[in-house]
Amino acid sequence: TGPSYQKTDKLKADHLPSVLYNIYKRPMLINQGYKQWLFDHEGRRYLDLFAGIVTVSVGHCHPKVVGALQEQIQTLWHCTNIYRHPKLYEYVEQLTSKLPGDLKVVYLVNSGSEANDLASILAKAYTGNLDVVSLQSSYHGCSYGLMGLTGTQSYRMKLNIPAGYYHTMLPDPYRGIWGGCRDSLSQVPGACSCPGDCVTADKYVHQLSELLENSVPKGRLAALFAESIQGVNGTVQFPKGYLKKAHQLVKKYGGLYIADEVQTGFGRTGDAFWGFQNHGVMPDIVTMAKGIGNGFPMAAVVTTKEIAAAHAGTAYVNTFGGNPMATSVGKAVLDVIEEEQLQQNCKVVGAYFVEQLMQLQKIHPIIGDVRGKGLMLGLEFVVPGTKDPLSVADVNIIFEDMKDMGVLIGRGGRFGNVLRIKPPMCINKQDVDFAISVLDQAIKNYTSCV
Ligand code: PMP
Repeated sequence: TGPSYQKTDKLKADHLPSVLYNIYKRPMLINQGYKQWLFDHEGRRYLDLFAGIVTVSVGHCHPKVVGALQEQIQTLWHCTNIYRHPKLYEYVEQLTSKLPGDLKVVYLVNSGSEANDLASILAKAYTGNLDVVSLQSSYHGCSYGLMGLTGTQSYRMKLNIPAGYYHTMLPDPYRGIWGGCRDSLSQVPGACSCPGDCVTADKYVHQLSELLENSVPKGRLAALFAESIQGVNGTVQFPKGYLKKAHQLVKKYGGLYIADEVQTGFGRTGDAFWGFQNHGVMPDIVTMAKGIGNGFPMAAVVTTKEIAAAHAGTAYVNTFGGNPMATSVGKAVLDVIEEEQLQQNCKVVGAYFVEQLMQLQKIHPIIGDVRGKGLMLGLEFVVPGTKDPLSVADVNIIFEDMKDMGVLIGRGGRFGNVLRIKPPMCINKQDVDFAISVLDQAIKNYTSCV
């Protein structure tokens, strides 16, 4: 059913914006998904290591999630939250049980961008301040306001980007000027040799203090936005202690700390349900999307009663946020993560994946860096013997070849040379073995012809 492959070429050219790019030379027409697998229109099966950009958390068309949605869809789709429906209440109770401290008030919205917009508004309203800091090379969404917050040039159009957004130096252990140890490659012995916080964390935090002292107008800091592992920018982990110290500093300047858990939440990092917990920090506001709904469009902002109170006195209506379908799906996703111990699976299978990638790194000098935590991994290609990023054209040869051998992977990073591995959280060690053999073969094919 549906249009032929050729027809989709024409329909895309005629009716979809050119900015909506497809990543493969001959992109697949995906017809079906099941758990960690995708199937195209010709019946070819792919191991999905990118999960629709870190979105399919518990597995494509997971039967329990499908069942929950089917049941709800026959009962009630929509009624708006100006009435009450039971799923909303069940869901917020369950979701907040997963959050520490006073993070107990939930705004349900529809996308990560919407969540970050709202978090930004809340921080400004609560502090009475207007300026927000994020990290260089960050991605937090693509609304007009977020084009300021997102610290990546390619997502910022030639517009008068809103004022009041500042970007602090990215504490990148691989490419940052001071290097540094990774915060938490705890599965891999010896990854971080600093006894306490990494010494470089202080240097990057000093950069942040310079920004707060010299650039952000005095007394105007509303918030620092940060992921706990940078996602779009190619799985960049921060030196141990950075987030904790950055948080303390921002607090001193009167700002809140907003944890963007859009990619790192819901157990993906293995050791903790939320990425920020790996850093021993307690955010004032947490935003979440993607994995929250396993592909169903939903997102959330969670904060404290005190901060949410800053909203009082104005109306807040969100037509679709927290609708019965979304909250049924969200509840089923939380149940599956628990029942199938997917956080633990991320930890065990993620550690195995990293070990195997590191074995490949020993034999392939084009692998400059292997990093990540749980099932949020990255592998950076370089020109052998240097740290120069391998060209996108060359990375694409490997990337396309992997697809042709049945493995879908993400690509990203500032130079487009990082493979991003963020599969549905249900993959197993056999899947890893298959992915590793395909990656190994694709690198061999590439190196034998250059
Ligand atoms: N924050 C992060 C960290 C993201 O990776 C993304 C999406 N890639 C967003 C926010 C925006 O989410 P959405 O695409 O749902 O608007």
